[in-house]
Amino acid sequence: MAYTYDDQNIFAKILRGEIPNDTVLETEHTLAFRDIAPKAPEHVLVIPKGAYVALDHFCAEASDAEIVDFHRTVAEICKMTGASPGEGGEGYRGITNAGENGVQEVPHYHLHILAGRPLGPMLLMR
Ligand code: AMP
Repeated sequence: MAYTYDDQNIFAKILRGEIPNDTVLETEHTLAFRDIAPKAPEHVLVIPKGAYVALDHFCAEASDAEIVDFHRTVAEICKMTGASPGEGGEGYRGITNAGENGVQEVPHYHLHILAGRPLGPMLLMR
């Protein structure tokens, strides 16, 4: 995998405690915190603590423990926000952006969990 991780990205700084964040949940390998510019009433970012740039990087190189911990944290966030349809919630959307075409702003893998309102079509066609 030819990814190069930039340790000056803003989420790396959050993980090092250099800038504050609004933490929702922290585990051994994962941090979940509120997006600074929320696009829905609930907008939580779930990130691995390890140095992974994007979804495919994480899936290819993270340990089993990191991958399991990340996804269990996602499940917990869906439960905590009340969004999980499995818990009687009204649903949510998980989004991850990668690279130029994905319009990824922060080059540290993150999953957006958005909930609390109807989220419209998956993509705008243009
Ligand atoms: P992406 O375009 O998928 O890379 O999304 C990056 C997200 O990070 C955007 O939704 C930003 O609002 C969010 N963001 C940027 N800086 C911060 C920060 N300091 N704390 C929380 N969220 C942030």
